[in-house]
Amino acid sequence: MERPLDDGVWERFATLQARRPGGFRIAALMRPPDGGEDEVAWLGRARAAAERGPLGLHTHWTAPDHARPTGGDPAARVREQAEWLRSRGLDVALFCGGGWYTDVAVAEALAELGYADCTATGFRPSYLAADAPRLGVGEPCYVELPSGRRLLELPTTHSLGMLARRILLPYGGSIVHAYFHDTDLVDSFRRTALVAALASLGARRRQTDLTELQRGIRPVKTMSFANSRG
Ligand SMILES: [Zn+2]
Repeated sequence: MERPLDDGVWERFATLQARRPGGFRIAALMRPPDGGEDEVAWLGRARAAAERGPLGLHTHWTAPDHARPTGGDPAARVREQAEWLRSRGLDVALFCGGGWYTDVAVAEALAELGYADCTATGFRPSYLAADAPRLGVGEPCYVELPSGRRLLELPTTHSLGMLARRILLPYGGSIVHAYFHDTDLVDSFRRTALVAALASLGARRRQTDLTELQRGIRPVKTMSFANSRG
């Protein structure tokens, strides 16, 4: 969720989450309020989203409209935001890095905080440079870190467009984990495509959600951070 404080965007998202197309509980990985944004309103909406599905942290490192870091200490910002959520009584243990950014220190912070990470993607985001830091993983796995900790990775496997193009085709992979932005829902074409794609997915695959996966999955695969860029 990019713009939970935008009433029009929020209303679309809340309606979709309540409607559960395909029967799915839809997770809300939310960008915490930035300087000047209304914390009280944000917390109200985060609590409402958490009643309807899994809740997670979506860190933007630079600005509300600039997800990837442009300086500073990315891992420190993750710890700061995780601590902010905890101090507000939000029990959150799912993470997705803005712009699919990650690095070893961020992964170490997440493992230490007990988060499961959804930042890895089974596809290469087209807007990223070939050498941009990211994790390329197609199936849930543990990522072995230099500290000896392991981070549970629940990769994102499909964009909204990829999911919609699979309505009549096999999805591939043991787990389908699709993402979209709350702002996509303002566009009626994208909103309709998402609802149709979720209905089709729900009819064709056994359903789970990120919380259930996080608790229940024991990935067979373990990989190291250095070898997981693809
Ligand atoms: Zn974002």
